[in-house]
Amino acid sequence: MISGIHRPAVVKVNLAAIQENIEHEVAHLQAGQKLFAVVKANAYGHGAVPVAKTALAAGASGFCVAILDEGLELRRADIVEPILVLGVVSPEYAPVAAANNISLTVPNLEWFQEAEKALKKTNLKLKIHLGIDSGMGRIGFSEDEEFVAANKFLQTSHSFEIEGMFAHFASADSADDSYFQRQVAKFEHMKQLLLVKPKWIHVDNTAASIFNKAVHSDLVRFGIGIYGLNPSSNPASADLEPAFALKPALSLESELTHVKTIHQGDGVGYGSTFVAEQDTVIGTVPVGYADGWIRKFQGFKVKVGDVYCPIVGRICMDQFMVELPEKMPIGTKVELISADPTAPNSIKKAADYVDTIHYEVACLLSDRLPREYY
Ligand code: PLP
Repeated sequence: MISGIHRPAVVKVNLAAIQENIEHEVAHLQAGQKLFAVVKANAYGHGAVPVAKTALAAGASGFCVAILDEGLELRRADIVEPILVLGVVSPEYAPVAAANNISLTVPNLEWFQEAEKALKKTNLKLKIHLGIDSGMGRIGFSEDEEFVAANKFLQTSHSFEIEGMFAHFASADSADDSYFQRQVAKFEHMKQLLLVKPKWIHVDNTAASIFNKAVHSDLVRFGIGIYGLNPSSNPASADLEPAFALKPALSLESELTHVKTIHQGDGVGYGSTFVAEQDTVIGTVPVGYADGWIRKFQGFKVKVGDVYCPIVGRICMDQFMVELPEKMPIGTKVELISADPTAPNSIKKAADYVDTIHYEVACLLSDRLPREYY
């Protein structure tokens, strides 16, 4: 996809804030714990390579990505630290991962057998982490018998190097600990079945770490915290206080490209969901749902100059309209998302408005929006 460098719409990313968030987390780590920066999904929309390089400067020891291609992107950027792919990579690509020193997650025994077939055609050895499904219900071993068989397989195979074992929490961002504790107990049980010795046994995500959940984790897979966002902001969860202040890094800015007065009875946008009752000043902003600024934002207030103005009419693919208090010059700055967490248009408020979480709002921002770093 082409990035729109000739249109006034940009995602601004504060790398100093990212550096600060990671440094705080590094200072918060338990003795011997390491931080792996989770930079999947283009670093939650913030830009994988610049974020990864900042993370290294701030003390990260490695990286987690979701798909193999994201790991390869980091290798192409000359990043040599460990990279773990958290999702399932088709076993046929095990040699590609091994050749690039990228570690893969083993989701089940069958995967092992298939990956070994692919690796045997080469002289390559693949680093692996055993995935455990301790209650997330997604990927990984959950049955004793299969897990023991996988351990035995590992003991005899020469195609793999055991590096880690991990699980993922479903509700570490919740004040109610009951399901979390159930997952901890299941993981502890699976650990007892190990016949091999992983270097890193890990469960912590941002929430488990910054809310001081007392579990053993050799490394923290630090994701949303990098970006200065509180993982407990899911409205369904209690708002827990993090161990240190997080500083959001992302803002989304544009400009007015057109300003006009419409008159009583004039509609705005597809379906004319807004009809003027009197003379009304309408400004147009060149950002739309193709940029990830979804139609549900209709009615949300963005900051035009110094004034918060409601989005009126349906958001189009590439543009939306706002109701202005008065005529404003073309080129007036429009801030759709503010990096200030107390602002009415913070990413958290934006996410609440469209009934989702800030992870999703950030990830949806498409590649058509250039990223600018400061
Ligand atoms: N570990 C795994 C397996 C994940 O899937 C994720 C994110 O989805 C993370 C760690 C990072 O979680 P968070 O961004 O909440 O820190």
